[in-house]
Amino acid sequence: MLKIEDLWVSIDGKEILKGLNLHLPQGETHVLFGKNGSGKSTLLMTIMGFQRYQVKQGKIYLQGRDVTELPTYERARLGLGLAFQRPPAIRGVKTRDVLFACAGTKPYMPLVEQYNFTDFLDREVNYGFSGGELKRSELLQLLAQDPSMVLLDEPESGVDLENLEVVGEIIGRLLQKDRRRGHREKSGLIITHTGFILDYINADSGYIMLDGKIPCQGNPREILQHLKQYGYEECARCLR
Ligand code: ADP
Ligand code: MG
Repeated sequence: MLKIEDLWVSIDGKEILKGLNLHLPQGETHVLFGKNGSGKSTLLMTIMGFQRYQVKQGKIYLQGRDVTELPTYERARLGLGLAFQRPPAIRGVKTRDVLFACAGTKPYMPLVEQYNFTDFLDREVNYGFSGGELKRSELLQLLAQDPSMVLLDEPESGVDLENLEVVGEIIGRLLQKDRRRGHREKSGLIITHTGFILDYINADSGYIMLDGKIPCQGNPREILQHLKQYGYEECARCLR
């Protein structure tokens, strides 16, 4: 579904990703851990194709197709969808219009009603939204878009306990967690700080990002357990 080979990326002249490799088969969900500033958001923004993130070397393949040079909207058309860590507010554009654009010909009102978002339809996108409302808005846009490859950047950040359950439920739905392993079509790559998402979805694999690379992959729960116990410093020592 998603394959990344020897990816080197710079932002404003600063090298962030340094030879990153990743392989994510269709129907699987992988989680990415890494301390602040290690380049996790950079990876997702680069996969989505934002121009500020300059690919110096390497390739990104989506379902076998080289998308490294494609503009963001074409990647979205191919089934790539991203929920931002910090979603931008867009003055002058209503939430309704963005949902409409995401959904295309699909109906989006049932989703809006189910997740109690009717009152937000005529508000400007993300403007003045609380942390939990921001994430709900982002995830509703993704549900409306219904991407086949879902990228989530710290979906739990800034969300209170009450909203956390809704966020977990929506993510489970995005990734077809009601289906059995091997019967899912949707794939996911999720950045998490706390690992909260592991309680809602059964992630298939976990990575640790360190110094712009992914040097370590394994069982996500085991990785989280080790990180909680020993921290990222121990991780760097182990890999040396
Ligand atoms: P993470 O999501 O893992 O916390 P990021 O991908 O957001 O990390 O950032 C990786 C590094 O890139 C950080 O050191 C950050 O300060 C740096 N960075 C991000 N944006 C810019 C920029 N516009 N100019 C220079 N450095 C940047
Ligand atoms: Mg980040």
